[in-house]
Amino acid sequence: MHASHTAPATMGRRLFVGAALGLGTAILASCAVDPNSPSSPTGAPSPSATPSATPAAATSSTPTPTVTPASGSTAAAVMSRQEAVATFAGRPAGAFGLEVKGIALGLPEQAKGAALTLDACGGPHGEGFDAVLIKALRKHQVPATLFINQRWAKVNTALVEDLAADPLFEIANHGTSHAPLASRGQAAYKIPGTASIAAAYDEVMGNQHYLAERFGIEARFFRSGTAHMDELSAKMVRELGLIPMNFTVNLDAGATFPAATVTAQAAGMGRGDVGIGHFNRPNSGTGKGVAAALPRLLEALDSKGLALIKLSDAF
Ligand SMILES: [Zn+2]
Repeated sequence: MHASHTAPATMGRRLFVGAALGLGTAILASCAVDPNSPSSPTGAPSPSATPSATPAAATSSTPTPTVTPASGSTAAAVMSRQEAVATFAGRPAGAFGLEVKGIALGLPEQAKGAALTLDACGGPHGEGFDAVLIKALRKHQVPATLFINQRWAKVNTALVEDLAADPLFEIANHGTSHAPLASRGQAAYKIPGTASIAAAYDEVMGNQHYLAERFGIEARFFRSGTAHMDELSAKMVRELGLIPMNFTVNLDAGATFPAATVTAQAAGMGRGDVGIGHFNRPNSGTGKGVAAALPRLLEALDSKGLALIKLSDAF
């Protein structure tokens, strides 16, 4: 009924490919040391308790058939919140982390290049825009996948429209409240994850629906706040028709690396790599660092017949 047994066949292979690539992931997690966390100074136990865009989904029948992807690469109908709870609640959470089963890290084996994935986290100190970074991508005509959190989208609507309209960029889903995606409230860097399947569903689909309804964006990839997930949540994301996407190269460690380090990280990217950085922190080293790396990175890839590509070009 849920078309639920189609995803696992590819899951293991993707994970294996990513794991084989070399793994800068151990260095530091994406939004880890980033103050753009969903936690408030009040220490609210669960950021997911904040009502998301879809509380009504709990009781009404699936309210947003418009989200059904047209690409054919995902399930025919998006699982409702009720169905997700019925399917996943009570099942073992599995491991929790950056590289757990079900999360894609690198690109599929046949990919002809590497991918830049850049997050916009939102939140009290995370609502900025790194114009230097985006300008550099446009100058060099470098495609990128932009993971946008709902908090950032809501205060930067004109920018989202502008970025979504640019064929260079693909918009992806970086969550609703920027919580780690978990089924039992597991925390990453002391940031509590979603505490139930229902909350995890809202964390994914709140922003998924918002991007679709407000901007006409059908995101195909999901990355949680802090990039941490448990296996059960990752499986749910797949069943929702999205690919849980992390990374193999940490470009900026939550926008904390100096520009020179960002440059070195980016310049070292090779075939199949997925680099993670941030485009919401204009005062970080990310924009300058990536801009400095692009000419040599592009040349190095080009010499091997490779290029920088969007995630959708590879999956
Ligand atoms: Zn983030």
